[in-house]
Amino acid sequence: MTAPGTEQFTTALFATNRAAFSRFVAARGLPLVDAAAKAAARAAFDAQELLHAPELVALCGAAVAGAVGQAVENVTITIWEHLRRTADGVPYSFTWSGLASQHATWATMVAPKGEGNIYSPITTDNGERLTAHTKRIHILTLDCDGTGTWDALWRVLVELGIAAVTHQSGGFTPATPKWRVLIPLAIPFDTETGDGGTTWRMAYATARVAFGALARLRGAGFDPATDNANNAWFPGYRREPAAAPRQVLYTGGRTLDLARLTAALPAPTMSPAAVTRRTWTTTAPSLLELAFEEACLLGSALTRGLSAVVCPWNDCHSAPLASNVSPTSASVIFPPNSAANVGAFFCAHASCGAKSVEEVLAMLPEEAVHRARLRHVRSTSPSASWLGGTELPSLPAGLPRLPTELP
Ligand SMILES: [Zn+2]
Repeated sequence: MTAPGTEQFTTALFATNRAAFSRFVAARGLPLVDAAAKAAARAAFDAQELLHAPELVALCGAAVAGAVGQAVENVTITIWEHLRRTADGVPYSFTWSGLASQHATWATMVAPKGEGNIYSPITTDNGERLTAHTKRIHILTLDCDGTGTWDALWRVLVELGIAAVTHQSGGFTPATPKWRVLIPLAIPFDTETGDGGTTWRMAYATARVAFGALARLRGAGFDPATDNANNAWFPGYRREPAAAPRQVLYTGGRTLDLARLTAALPAPTMSPAAVTRRTWTTTAPSLLELAFEEACLLGSALTRGLSAVVCPWNDCHSAPLASNVSPTSASVIFPPNSAANVGAFFCAHASCGAKSVEEVLAMLPEEAVHRARLRHVRSTSPSASWLGGTELPSLPAGLPRLPTELP
C-alpha cells in the first residue's frame, strides 16, 4: 500500500512538467495566433489547481519537514558577466546573510531584460558555464512566474526553520508576481559522477512540485524549465530607472537535505527519457535547435545535420510518443540554410507535416523560446561578441573573491 498523496504526487509531476503547457494547448486546439491568444492560453493553464490536492500538500509537508539539514554555512555562486558569456565565471563564497545582501544590492541596480550579470549557484572546474564543467550545485533555486505569491511558502519555511532568500524578479508586478526562492542544500549536489545532469533534473522536479504545493501555487507552480544543472539566473534587477527596487526577503536557519526529500517522494519519469542538453560542436546553433533544447524536446543528432525532436503536436498524433520513448526521425529539424540561422521543422505524421517556424515557436513554452532567443547568434555575424555594443553593469564591487581554490 502506498502512502496517501503518492498517486497525486506522481500525477502532479507529469501534469506540471515542461511539456504540460504544450499538451494543454494541443488538447484544447487553442490557436496561438498572436501574443494575446498566447497570454489567454497561459492564463487558462495557470488558473488550474494542479498542486492543490490536500493529500498532495500533506505528503509534501511531511517530506520537507523530514528533510531539514544542518544550519547553513557558506555557499558558493559563480557569476558571469552576461548570459551570452559562458566562460570566465568567477566563484564567490558568501555567508547566507551575505548572499541576501548581494541580492539586495542587485535589486537596486538597473538592467534591461536579458542584460546584466548572471549567476549560477554552482562550482565549476574552469569557470565555464557548461554541464560538463559543472561540479556541484549549492542552492535549490525555484522560479515563480505569476502563479502566486510567496506568503504561504514563507509560513512553511519559517515554521520549519529552513534558511531562504526570496527576491522579486525584474519583471515583477503586483498583478503578475514573479519571484524566486533560494534554499541552501545540506550537501552540495554532485553533478560530476554518473549522469549528474539528469539526476539533478529529476531531483529538481521532485523539489519543484513539493515546494510548489506548499506554496499553494496555481498552474504548474514553479517553472519546470529551469532545471538545468548550470541554469543561469538573472538577479532581480530593476528593468528601468523609474522602477522601484525589487523586494528581497531573507531568513537564516537550516539547509535542505535534497537526498532525503527525493527519497521520501515518488521519482519522476523524465519525459521523454533520452532528451538531454547537447554539447554543441558549432558555435552558433540555430534558433530552432536552441528552442527545442530549451523546451527539453531535443533528441539525438541524426545524419546530414538533422536533429530528432519531440513534435510539439505529439499529443495530436494518432500514436503519440510515450513519455519514456526517445524521439525518432519522424519529427526533425533541419540545419539552417539561411543567414538568419533559424532552421526548419518537419513532422512525418499526417496531422502535422511542414509547420512554419512561427507555428512551431508558438507551440513551445514561451520561457524556452525567450531563452533560445537570448542564446541565438545569427550565422552572418559569427564574431558578434556577447558584448554586442551594449553597456553592461560591471561586477558589483566589494564581493569576497575567493583567494584560493574552492573546497
Ligand atoms: Zn507531429
